[in-house]
Amino acid sequence: MSDTLSILNTVFGYPSFRDRQGAIIDHVTAGGDALVLMPTASGKSLCYQIPALVRSGVGIVVSPLIALMHDQVAALKELGIKAACLNSSLSYEESSAVERGLADGTFDLVYVAPERLLTPRFMALLDRIESGGDLALFAIDEAHCVSQWGHDFRPDYIQLSILHERFPNVPRIALTATADDTTRGEIIQRLQLQNANIFVSSFDRPNIRYRIVEKNNARAQVLKFISTEHAGDAGIVYCLSRRKVDETAQWLTGQGVRALPYHAGMDAAARRRTQDAFLRDDGVVVVATIAFGMGIDKPDVRFVAHLDVPKSVEGYYQETGRAGRDGLPADAWMSYGLNDAVQHRRMINESDANDTFQRLAHAKLDALLALCESATCRRQRMLAYFGEQSEPCGNCDTCLDPPETWDGTEAAQKALSCVYRTGQRFGAAHLCHVLLGRDTERIRQWNHDRVSTYGIGQELSEKEWRGVFRQLVAFGMLDVDHDAFGALRLGEASRDVLKGTRRVTLRKPAKGRAAKVKTARATASGITAADLDAVETTLWDRLRAWRSETATAHGVPAYVVFHDATLLELARSCPGSLARLADVPGIGNAKLERYGQSILKICQDHAAEHGLVAG
Ligand code: ADP
Ligand code: ZN
Repeated sequence: MSDTLSILNTVFGYPSFRDRQGAIIDHVTAGGDALVLMPTASGKSLCYQIPALVRSGVGIVVSPLIALMHDQVAALKELGIKAACLNSSLSYEESSAVERGLADGTFDLVYVAPERLLTPRFMALLDRIESGGDLALFAIDEAHCVSQWGHDFRPDYIQLSILHERFPNVPRIALTATADDTTRGEIIQRLQLQNANIFVSSFDRPNIRYRIVEKNNARAQVLKFISTEHAGDAGIVYCLSRRKVDETAQWLTGQGVRALPYHAGMDAAARRRTQDAFLRDDGVVVVATIAFGMGIDKPDVRFVAHLDVPKSVEGYYQETGRAGRDGLPADAWMSYGLNDAVQHRRMINESDANDTFQRLAHAKLDALLALCESATCRRQRMLAYFGEQSEPCGNCDTCLDPPETWDGTEAAQKALSCVYRTGQRFGAAHLCHVLLGRDTERIRQWNHDRVSTYGIGQELSEKEWRGVFRQLVAFGMLDVDHDAFGALRLGEASRDVLKGTRRVTLRKPAKGRAAKVKTARATASGITAADLDAVETTLWDRLRAWRSETATAHGVPAYVVFHDATLLELARSCPGSLARLADVPGIGNAKLERYGQSILKICQDHAAEHGLVAG
């Protein structure tokens, strides 16, 4: 067996490499440079951790996520790997101890913040280690931080090209979950990775189930979603504004959900409390603006809910991508309404960005709205947006419960002419009233009972008309007015519809069935808690209680001790010997030695109590 595979088996406890991992690890272990573009949760860390263990000397990992380093190092130590980190959160004594350890060759892996790495003092230390032949590699995590155009830009990252200039013989591996061509080009150029092998894998996250519902009462909808499908699970609820974050968190708490707020308007200590509780306790729901997320690599986030739509497909992908990092089934749920589009359009127009930027922002929003209104596979559409071809996925709402469509050409024509006849100055609610022939004060005030479209739409309900307007906006047939809040104007694409040369297919309002679909299983993943029978569930509960005590005693998050996937497998198989334990994915030598006896005891007691023959 190769060294790398045997380390995967014995140290990490996993049977085989995933996807490109094996190829990447071989390449870097042999001394080559690599640029790795793989989605969140695909297992990028192993791509530098294993080569660092196989090659002689220490692997230096540059990471901007100081808050995470501590937990990353704790997780490595649990595996019996000698790891440490260096960043501004350490005291002088602690830093000195790590530096001494580095000089003495104590470590396999050291995580360093970029600003610390770049100090002359640290560079000199690296020189000394290198002269002894003891620098295994440099890993540059979150490599997209070199991109000046991305919102994670870190000026320090640009200077990381010094690693190539100063240590040309030490292999470098840059990793990111951001895949677009521009960012890729910038990483190669800025980090001088022209000679690196590039490894790209599919950006699909097969275990995430996408679902987008029409918004009627978003709060009640999200509560129902959480309480019926994710009671007791950890999750994130994204809202557009800080105020809505506070209100929603408070309201959910009142409804019995353990919900905590997070946004940039809170003071640092309060934000920290939310984050710590989320990482360390089971079943916390964080209600947040998009300020929350970067650097959260909690593996067992079971759902991400959006109360408001994000501003682009990229944002949606990234935010929903925080669910299900452990590969077990997870839900991405979003409620979406016409007002979301209106609000975003207004925010774009009111921003002081230049015209080009505003146009780009509108185009990005268009793509997201089209995804929301899509009657075909969401995943296929999203991957296509990122340039990846795929088949319908079978694990999104439109695949599991295909929406009915209807020929909405005539309705679209009525709606569009109603917009035109009333002077392109009114919002959807009023336009619906005109079409339905309602007698409201506003109608009388504007004499809209005299326009030719008054009362011509009685064949549809108000809800159905709202759906028509929403979709016409998503298709670019109606634009939201820049100046008048929520007013609709004819869009570019309306002309052909009004001329009768373009037909319009619309989605019927959902009947709420999609929410109940819970039968199909994520493709790439293993068992979930819902798959366990009553007896297995007792063992699962015991194992979780044990994990929680152990984690508290060690001062680490529960997932650092064992992931859910490992405990679920234990609960299902109830192993009766250390040898059988070692076969469970996620149990490597160090964990077997440290925890094997305790787990075995729990399993044996459980087997005896329930008259089972332990496996
Ligand atoms: P990324 O850095 O790409 O977001 P991670 O490196 O954190 O992802 O890995 C995600 C999860 O997948 C981790 O829990 C990791 O232990 C697990 N994992 C990685 N490689 C394998 C493998 N070959 N077999 C089983 N699990 C793996
Ligand atoms: Zn699908």
